[in-house]
Amino acid sequence: MEAVVTGKRMEVLLDEPTIQQRVQALGQEITADYQDKELVLITVLKGSVVFAADLVRSIELPLTMEFMGLSSYGDDTKSTGVVRVTLDLSKPIEGKHVLIVEDIVDTGLTMQYLLRNMATRNPASVGVCTLLHKPARQKVDVPLDYVGFTIDDHFVVGYGLDYQQRYRNLRMIGHMVDG
Ligand code: 5GP
Repeated sequence: MEAVVTGKRMEVLLDEPTIQQRVQALGQEITADYQDKELVLITVLKGSVVFAADLVRSIELPLTMEFMGLSSYGDDTKSTGVVRVTLDLSKPIEGKHVLIVEDIVDTGLTMQYLLRNMATRNPASVGVCTLLHKPARQKVDVPLDYVGFTIDDHFVVGYGLDYQQRYRNLRMIGHMVDG
């Protein structure tokens, strides 16, 4: 499938069945790893919402969901690592097993900030589940416990990920190419 988007073409990188199959598998892994633990899933707004909605339904454990709003002071396509909290957790996570759900780890700066922020709240453990990882652009080393897909250096949209706040509702993940 190809679509014309504001003067650019969009090429499909991951289609819907591929994404759904992988998300199911991640949910099964998490279910096996967190048996008998009190799990709190922390979803990073806004890009991770679609992924988290599918992921929670494939985790067969009692869990709670929290949301964290972060805004990075970058331009549309690059993160600077300077992060502002726009929405904080509604409950303390002290003593809880926390799993951060992120859409994409690019430079890793946002995740580094988030991990440091979580550590100050004394959780029992902090894990990271990211749908996408772009190792080519990574600037800082962050532990990634669950990775959906490792991708090349493309700016991707769809399945929660936006370009200027649009395309989050696409069922697939694509990238824009000049055309
Ligand atoms: P990092 O701090 O790891 O560089 O970037 C993390 C954030 O940058 C992601 O949560 C996402 O909001 C944004 N980002 C990084 N790469 C992409 C991309 O390819 N597409 C979109 N839509 N956002 C991206």
